[in-house]
Amino acid sequence: MSKDEEHIIDWILDKTDFKTQKERFRDKKRASQFDNRKHKIDNMIYYCEKCKCCWSNVPKYVDVIKWRKYPGGVMPTIGKKRKSCPNCK
Ligand SMILES: [Zn+2]
Repeated sequence: MSKDEEHIIDWILDKTDFKTQKERFRDKKRASQFDNRKHKIDNMIYYCEKCKCCWSNVPKYVDVIKWRKYPGGVMPTIGKKRKSCPNCK
């Protein structure tokens, strides 16, 4: 291996490492943002009697339409507020 090749590989490794760290930091920041809002989201889950699905309002970064429907059977429906989802309104 020539000296020049070694230099290029070092440069690529440096760049790759920097990118990975930056992405990791961004994921961590995003996860903590979600944690702060998790409790709020849990209280905002409704049950739509028309399509028999649970749904909730979500922040725009979770879904651009600002609400999300959960597949039937995934969420317990007992104790959930009955409210038609935006789809059934
Ligand atoms: Zn519905």
